[in-house]
Amino acid sequence: MENQTNHYDYVIIGSGFGGSVSALRLSEKGYKVLVIEKGKKYEAKEFPSSNWNLKRWLWLPALRFFGFFKITFYRHVSILSGVGFGGGSLVYANTLPIPKKEFFKAKSWSHLANWDEELKPFYQEAKRMLGVTKNPLLEYGDKALKLVSKQMGKEDMFEATDVAVFFGEPEKTVNDPYFNGEGPERAGCNFCGACMIGCRYNAKNTLDKNYLYFAEKKGAEFLTEKEVYNIIPVQNNSQTTYKVKWKSSTKLFKRKGEITCNGVVFSGGVLGTIPLLLKLKNTSLPNLSEKVGGNIRTNSESLLGVTSTDTEKDFSKGIAIGSIFHADKFSHLEAVRYPSGSGFWRTQMFPMLDGKNWLIRLLKVIIELILHPIKWLKLFFVKDWAKQTQILLFMQTINNTLSFSKSWFRMKTKLESGKAPTAFIPEARKLTKEFAKIVNGEPVALLSETLLGIPTTAHILGGAVMGKDKTEGVIDKNHKVFGYKNIYVCDGSAISANPGVNPSLTITALTERAMSKIPDKV
Ligand SMILES: Cc1cc2nc3c(=O)[nH]c(=O)nc-3n(C[C@H](O)[C@H](O)[C@H](O)COP(=O)(O)OP(=O)(O)OC[C@H]3O[C@@H](n4cnc5c(N)ncnc54)[C@H](O)[C@@H]3O)c2cc1C
Ligand code: SF4
Repeated sequence: MENQTNHYDYVIIGSGFGGSVSALRLSEKGYKVLVIEKGKKYEAKEFPSSNWNLKRWLWLPALRFFGFFKITFYRHVSILSGVGFGGGSLVYANTLPIPKKEFFKAKSWSHLANWDEELKPFYQEAKRMLGVTKNPLLEYGDKALKLVSKQMGKEDMFEATDVAVFFGEPEKTVNDPYFNGEGPERAGCNFCGACMIGCRYNAKNTLDKNYLYFAEKKGAEFLTEKEVYNIIPVQNNSQTTYKVKWKSSTKLFKRKGEITCNGVVFSGGVLGTIPLLLKLKNTSLPNLSEKVGGNIRTNSESLLGVTSTDTEKDFSKGIAIGSIFHADKFSHLEAVRYPSGSGFWRTQMFPMLDGKNWLIRLLKVIIELILHPIKWLKLFFVKDWAKQTQILLFMQTINNTLSFSKSWFRMKTKLESGKAPTAFIPEARKLTKEFAKIVNGEPVALLSETLLGIPTTAHILGGAVMGKDKTEGVIDKNHKVFGYKNIYVCDGSAISANPGVNPSLTITALTERAMSKIPDKV
């Protein structure tokens, strides 16, 4: 065993859902833990008041923007993700559903465990830790979604979302309401709709207010604004330890450092873990499974919208995702919002039109704009885009997989199985049109969806999936990496089927389960 002060039992790469759970549970078991996080640590007051403050909102190091929201474009999908102390919890919309039975029974992983039964206690614990509760207030957009469900004769399939938000008296600070007073102070939600640009009111249950907070109390240490770029196994007699190398992620002149540890937990999210594993497979960790980068799932999503010129309407009030409509066994639609004044996405919205290829769609867009110039000018220049636009997030359990591989300067995607993810999901478009009729608005879609046909997802999953052995997956059912001792993957990359709903609760529950299998330190 090493005696250096910078030797840890476990180094955890990333502080999102998987990383935070791992940090707390390993610290509780008596291990010496270090979490290394690429992004920044935020106080509530540091979040931007609108998404026009690009420098504070976007993670775009090339322009020296070090915010917490990242957009990455690939050939088959555009990916939205979070960067910072608390990972995706800083930018996410707090919505934490348990997936339907189809997810647990999916062929891709159902042979490994009875997931439905096994995960039940871990979902309960995840909900307790994250403070999940029912959204108590349906606002205008939620009520319109309810009407859509009613018109389809499926009102019982509509519900308010289960969310990780503190609903005390609006903006009133109280002592910790969740952990018998042991946790941090909280303030009640004021339904401002800003959850996805960071909660400035201390009402959103981000990971720094639960898992990471208690991990620190239990002795976990943290390095922020540092990116792990290499892991090298070191053989000491019969024991393998690892050298973990990091570099500064926000400084102009990059500082580098290294520490050693007995074990590593990869929790960088799909966009952090998979590029790193692909790189390491070609360099210092060649025994990793050939499946690294395979079985990537997009949750079969489509992000659409409806804009109305009626200034009396206000879609911006409420929590970021206030309601969900389970349109059928496989499909879910959620009403999503940004706060008043947050109109960045206005620059990306186009008429929602279909067509076989981009040329046909471009022609259709041009014709639509020529035929109805006044209508579209009014829609593009609505006074407050967030107030007058309802974003609609459509998700399906339908399976298709992509793979990520390294090209000479960045990752690239390839279709692996099923049909390529598409921006043109007929059910999503039909529901959006129904919604538009109800609110007297116009359906719109992201530019990248309408013209390029590339769907956008906030829920990228897989890439280091489970298998019975190395030929089938990268990790076993307890998240242990095949081919190396004491390396784990605990984040969205480990999700081995398509949940068809927002995945963070599942990532949390799976990590709780994985950590429960690791014995206490002796
Ligand atoms: C706008 C938006 C809204 C969303 N809304 C919801 C929602 O309502 N419900 C839901 O369930 N999900 C939602 N999601 C998705 C959710 O945020 C992700 O599924 C979840 O955060 C993934 O968790 P994770 O553990 O895989 O990693 P993440 O939470 O992504 O965390 C990974 C962390 O690792 C860090 N990292 C990566 N690589 C390195 C490295 N090499 N070195 C050091 N650090 C590194 C990253 O900076 C990041 O902070 C939303 C996402 C977005 C973008
Ligand atoms: S609606 Fe506003 S106050 Fe409530 S959790 Fe979201 S950002 Fe915070």
